Amino acid sequence: MWSCPFFVGALPGSAYNVRRYEMWKRLQGNRFGRILRHRGSMNTALAFVPGTAHTLEGHPEHVGRLSAIWELLERYNVLADLLHVTPQFTTVRQLNAVHTEEHIDLIRWAAAQGGGMLGPDTYVKPGSFDEARLAAGSACAVADAVMTGNAANGLALIRPPGHHAGTQSAEGFCLFNNVAIVARHLQQAHGIERIAIVDFDVHHGNGTEQIFRRDSSVLFVSTHILEPYFYPGTGRVGDVGDASGYGYTINVPLCSGVGDKGYQSVFDRLILPKLEEFNPQFILVSAGFDAHWGDPLASATLSLTGYAQLCRQLLQVAAELCENRILFILEGGYFLDALAHGILNLTYALQGFDVIIDPLGPSKRPESDISDLLLRLQRRHLLV
Ligand SMILES: [Zn+2]
Repeated sequence: MWSCPFFVGALPGSAYNVRRYEMWKRLQGNRFGRILRHRGSMNTALAFVPGTAHTLEGHPEHVGRLSAIWELLERYNVLADLLHVTPQFTTVRQLNAVHTEEHIDLIRWAAAQGGGMLGPDTYVKPGSFDEARLAAGSACAVADAVMTGNAANGLALIRPPGHHAGTQSAEGFCLFNNVAIVARHLQQAHGIERIAIVDFDVHHGNGTEQIFRRDSSVLFVSTHILEPYFYPGTGRVGDVGDASGYGYTINVPLCSGVGDKGYQSVFDRLILPKLEEFNPQFILVSAGFDAHWGDPLASATLSLTGYAQLCRQLLQVAAELCENRILFILEGGYFLDALAHGILNLTYALQGFDVIIDPLGPSKRPESDISDLLLRLQRRHLLV
């Protein structure tokens, strides 16, 4: 354990000591790449479900992603300060609130048969049905911890990921839609009426969009690469929801090469104002770290610092609008260094520490300009 010399014999909480503490904390972060192990201002609940029995040799979505995260969090000694939630399976009700019986039966059957491929990129192993239920159920348990006041905010480090899974489809490495299951759970078990889902994974959250596109109780916002064609090829500016959900889906289809500046301007000038307008009671984040410039599956150019700023802004909005109620749920991220450091920075931000660790630096590519897209999006969603 680190101790803070400035706190010895000091009156905790005085402005002077807080300033000195902040200074000392920054020094620790900058000079040594680590911070003191003083408790942050926030109590963060963590679910960790590595999905060990759901992994396929050679596939980019594998258990090593979660091991890399765990090892880095351990190395930086941040795990002790988190509230560790006991992993739990989804209830039948939680699964049925999002997926059809046929879809649930298909995943159960495929696992029982010994596994196989559901489409070109999505696999099932014998343990996949249980691991997928454990992932979604544990994310719900973190949401419970936030709702009951046991934690201020939450982080679900789980796999398989979920945002490509629709009510009756498994695709894009996803079997059940974790974030959607948590959203419905919040509505059904806790009476939450307005939920915002922000999806900053580099791929469009097509499953999440499909589940909520007719639903005005869930604002769904997705930033993703679309031009030139990029999986899953959906999420255009004009896709804004249907029926009573019209206007409650916001798609930000970015071009290859968009990075810190572009993401920041989209957040500042579109996403944050829309969140304020919607005034959610809970914010869920589909947190994919595959928009990092080093990711092998994508072509965005966010840096770790850029990612950390986005996470901090979302935390700030949660503090202003919904009593800090925010839960980040892991989606993609296939460059393990970027993934693990992205989660480390997110964990610091959740706990209230002002520290960003970015050993990878910024992208060397010149960033694509998205001014025209931003104008189109503002006209569409903000009526400017
Ligand atoms: Zn992704």
